[in-house]
Amino acid sequence: MALIVQKYGGTSVGSPERILAVAKRVERWRAAGHQLVVVVSAMSGETNRLLALAKEISTSPDPRELDVVASTGEQVTIGLLAMALIEHGFKARSYTGAQVKILTDDAFTKARIVSIDEQNIRADLAGGTVVIVAGFQGVDEDGNITTLGRGGSDTSAVAVAAALKADECQIYTDVDGVYTTDPRIVPEARRLKTVTFEEMLEMASLGSKVLQIRSVEFAGKYKVRLRVLSSFEEDGEGTLITFEEDEKMEKAVISGIAFNRDEAKITVMGVPDRPGVAYAILGPIGEANIDVDMIIQNASANGMTDLSFTVNRNEYTKAMDVLNRQVKDQIKATDIRGDAKICKVSIVGVGMRTHAGIASKTFRTLAEEGINIQMISTSEIKISVVIDEKYMELAVRALHRAFGLDQAA
Ligand code: ADP
Ligand code: ASP
Ligand code: MG
Repeated sequence: MALIVQKYGGTSVGSPERILAVAKRVERWRAAGHQLVVVVSAMSGETNRLLALAKEISTSPDPRELDVVASTGEQVTIGLLAMALIEHGFKARSYTGAQVKILTDDAFTKARIVSIDEQNIRADLAGGTVVIVAGFQGVDEDGNITTLGRGGSDTSAVAVAAALKADECQIYTDVDGVYTTDPRIVPEARRLKTVTFEEMLEMASLGSKVLQIRSVEFAGKYKVRLRVLSSFEEDGEGTLITFEEDEKMEKAVISGIAFNRDEAKITVMGVPDRPGVAYAILGPIGEANIDVDMIIQNASANGMTDLSFTVNRNEYTKAMDVLNRQVKDQIKATDIRGDAKICKVSIVGVGMRTHAGIASKTFRTLAEEGINIQMISTSEIKISVVIDEKYMELAVRALHRAFGLDQAA
């Protein structure tokens, strides 16, 4: 007997038929003698619908109230799934985040989980009940409902698995595992049997939305055995996120390609090249709580320099505003230019540590396609480039082919 946490995403519970199919799968695991905790998302499209409703009422909805609204989608799904199981003669009980007591901080719309009270869950499991938990939501110290950011049900599931020391956390979705890149963009993408935790962390943080980044962080911190599988297939093995690298020795140098359209680039032009300039520009940005991703400062010409950086696209206007109001005149910048039509494409692989020439191959491939690279950043296991958004698919496909990730390769 094992303790399994299963998470079903939006499409997996997108209709009454899909919910009944999920119930059937849960019942099979239960009948095999396993203890089951099931974390579910809202039905597909529901969270978007709720957020759009809020926007119709207010252009910048109060964050506490936004979470009150956004969290309701998951409450519907837990009830429906529990009903289905009970209808079939199984013991099941649904819990909202607050009922479990998934305690979070009070950062509405992007709260972090602080602790999970496992008492009720354990008691139910011991009595043979399937526990169904609403993903994406928690409660802060003062009893306010919070949500965990888009895609947050993955994190709910992994955090519950960590708290219960579950034998495995299974993320059921609409693809049968983690692919070399998003199969919606590159049909030739292949499923990876395993991917190392480090690579998954990079891929998630660089834009692969198959797992929310915080879920991967949790899995790493608490050594949760994590698997991504399809809810549309009977028995696939999916992709296991591994903690060992040894078994990767024979594999491709590059494991995957991620891309992200959610960033915007800002360039502060013609600033004096002297100590303190980066701070004068990025200090106020940090104080405004805007996260900065890539940064480059050009070599100085005539004692003047340009500094470029990227921010999340939904904070772009705010960042431009901060720079125009608080920075431009103070540092005597000649101009501040923004470009929201960019994207970041990244190649990821632990094999990069031991193989040379990956960067030059990346740049050559993009050059051959006539794609201009605007920014570059690297770490031990990834290379990211910022390019014009319109070349995103072309770049991803070309790199996928160049690094031998295509099915035919
Ligand atoms: P869920 O609603 O189940 O949480 P998501 O839409 O959040 O599902 O995540 C699954 C989707 O992630 C897939 O349909 C796929 O288009 C996308 N995706 C992006 N990158 C990858 C990748 N490397 N491997 C698999 N899927 C990916
Ligand atoms: N329903 C939430 C969302 O759409 C959480 C999730 O699906 O993981 O972002
Ligand atoms: Mg998701």
